[in-house]
Amino acid sequence: MINLVLFGPPGAGKGTQSEKLIARYGFVHISTGDLFRWHTKNDTPLGKRVKEIMNSGALVPDEITIAMLKEELDKNPQAKGFLFDGFPRTVPQAEALDQFMKSNGSAIHFVVALNVTEEEVRTRIARRRTVENRADDEEEKLNKRITEYFSKTIHVLPYYEQKGRLNTVNGIGSIDGIFDNITRIIDGKATPVS
Ligand code: AMP
Repeated sequence: MINLVLFGPPGAGKGTQSEKLIARYGFVHISTGDLFRWHTKNDTPLGKRVKEIMNSGALVPDEITIAMLKEELDKNPQAKGFLFDGFPRTVPQAEALDQFMKSNGSAIHFVVALNVTEEEVRTRIARRRTVENRADDEEEKLNKRITEYFSKTIHVLPYYEQKGRLNTVNGIGSIDGIFDNITRIIDGKATPVS
């Protein structure tokens, strides 16, 4: 069982790489963004609680996010491995995830951070907005989401770095090239960067 966290700012290509990784390794995909979007679309009680927060581009409070995540893990006791996409985004979330994994006799084995500059992220999201029409990608929310990443989420990286689990991959390049670099890490073939 391999559990992987795919990390990176909005527009880094986490969704695209997740699809390819799932096809290759059979991960159960847990995207907290997709889960929240499902809840808001279906107008569930949770959806009602988070709709405005999401629409503003802010992070949903840890308490809500962690509870939803736990529920999702409990739904998949037979998973061969999980791919976490968009979670954790804060240090308390990372700590909670480690605890959940530990209580199931497992762990987060790899954290792969897609390294993409803020400028590239802005260009990609602007392009994606024209095709996907996602409510949270509207112009005024974009700044907030990027700010949330660079002011809060980025602090999760030292947490994993201290535990020796952080792997950084250049997120700019061809989709297949980036995918190859991620698979080399998972398959243990990556050359450690000194
Ligand atoms: P995403 O598609 O992953 O960028 O997520 C869309 C939105 O869902 C974010 O802008 C947040 O409002 C919310 N969200 C998703 N994942 C998390 C998380 N791990 N912690 C807090 N909020 C989240």
